[in-house]
Amino acid sequence: MMAFPISEATPVVHAGAPPQQTDVVVIGGGVVGVCTALFLAEAGHHVVLLEKGRIAAEQSSRNWGWIRQQGRDPHELGIMAESNRIWRDLASRTNVDIGLVQGGVSYLAKTDEEMAVYEAWLDHARAHGVDSRLLSNAETQALIPGMSQSYAGALYTATDLRAEPWVTVPALAGIAARAGARLIENCAVRTLDIQAGRVTGVMTEQGRIKASSVVLAGGAWSSLFLRNAGVALPQLSVRATVAATEPLPQMYQGGAADDKIAFRARADGGYSLAAGGFHELFIGPDAFRALPKFLTQLRNDPFGTRFKASAPTGFPDAWGTPRSWSAEAQSPFERMRVLNPAPNPKKLRNLQRDFAALFPAFGPIKLKSAWAGMIDTMPDVVPVMDRVDAIKGLVVGTGFSGHGFGIGPAAGRVLSALVTGADVGHDLHRFRLSRFTDGSKMDIGPSV
Ligand SMILES: Cc1cc2nc3c(=O)[nH]c(=O)nc-3n(C[C@H](O)[C@H](O)[C@H](O)COP(=O)(O)OP(=O)(O)OC[C@H]3O[C@@H](n4cnc5c(N)ncnc54)[C@H](O)[C@@H]3O)c2cc1C
Repeated sequence: MMAFPISEATPVVHAGAPPQQTDVVVIGGGVVGVCTALFLAEAGHHVVLLEKGRIAAEQSSRNWGWIRQQGRDPHELGIMAESNRIWRDLASRTNVDIGLVQGGVSYLAKTDEEMAVYEAWLDHARAHGVDSRLLSNAETQALIPGMSQSYAGALYTATDLRAEPWVTVPALAGIAARAGARLIENCAVRTLDIQAGRVTGVMTEQGRIKASSVVLAGGAWSSLFLRNAGVALPQLSVRATVAATEPLPQMYQGGAADDKIAFRARADGGYSLAAGGFHELFIGPDAFRALPKFLTQLRNDPFGTRFKASAPTGFPDAWGTPRSWSAEAQSPFERMRVLNPAPNPKKLRNLQRDFAALFPAFGPIKLKSAWAGMIDTMPDVVPVMDRVDAIKGLVVGTGFSGHGFGIGPAAGRVLSALVTGADVGHDLHRFRLSRFTDGSKMDIGPSV
């Protein structure tokens, strides 16, 4: 099988020594950090983005590539509509084809109860002008021909998009670099420099950078980084396994999922496959610490997450991972340049079996590649996009909980506005950091 295309062996594209000073440092070269750097550079600010490994080597290349409005928390919908517009603009500015296609997204319902849940979510779609609608059994069969299962119907959003993640995010980084952002790969940020409650810069493995603003977009590493700076963030990471098939007949151009399997047409003629609603949590000290905040989620969906005794060495919540370090010491970030969990082999076999059973005309399913990613998830399944009150000048954009690829471009625009003081354009109350400490009950968005 083909090796995962971005790894520590991938040649460094964005090299060089960090400058001694800049206006803004962005930590993390995933879709969120890259888009934040892009909007800051376009607004005329000096910005340096530091990535411990390679651009998009973690979640931002490993995801399903769904750019969906469908099923989102209502507070995300306005930001997501903006993101859809930005995606179309960015796709016309890249040097390569990122595979942006308006293929739609459909959630396939086996029962009338599932259809009722989808129907209830439609109120949010209507309120935000999203074109989602319910499909009947016959409409579902017509949209996705050849399925052996007869579904009660589906929730369908025709204007949802898809793109090829591991091509896309490096291409967006290219736009950011051309806009004037300085990107540096293989350069971990160890610690923040803080004086009198204000950020004054960062210490990297290649020396100090002075900056009056820092954006943390560290994905699955954000909680570990913040803890060392004295800020608590109840964020955990779960493993999700994905596979890509060899080319097959194309019967539908979008993404679809039922309770067992999710599939999405790929630009290379195959399909990306994943198990719908299945995640694995490696138990570590953070899992125990964050448990009280995650209890509501666990009660709502007791079987959605499988537990594993401990994480592999070097993972953010492994038992042996240091929780504090100094600016001069090697940090956990440089010890693991690329978080590359092994896919779950049993899940891969199940995916082949289930996809072949759903589309019998395809015959046995051959996999071209398989991988896994660690999804950074929050107790209420929505991200943090906020300034940190305790450390002036620090902005956090993290915890996108399995749906940050699609919203990434607009999240970058929003985070850049939080830095510069420009109009954010959306109500960010839902995404405030203080919701975990101000006594708020965990308000989990619609789980559709
Ligand atoms: C299997 C899977 C399927 C998914 N499917 C979808 C989907 O279909 N649609 C969707 O919208 N979303 C999806 N997601 C979620 C989406 O991929 C993420 O929400 C999104 O990529 C998060 O982007 P990010 O920039 O916040 O984090 P990441 O992409 O994880 O990037 C964070 C980066 O920060 C770097 N970093 C961390 N700490 C430091 C440090 N101290 N110094 C320097 N660099 C540092 C890391 O190396 C990493 O590259 C999926 C995720 C997975 C894993």
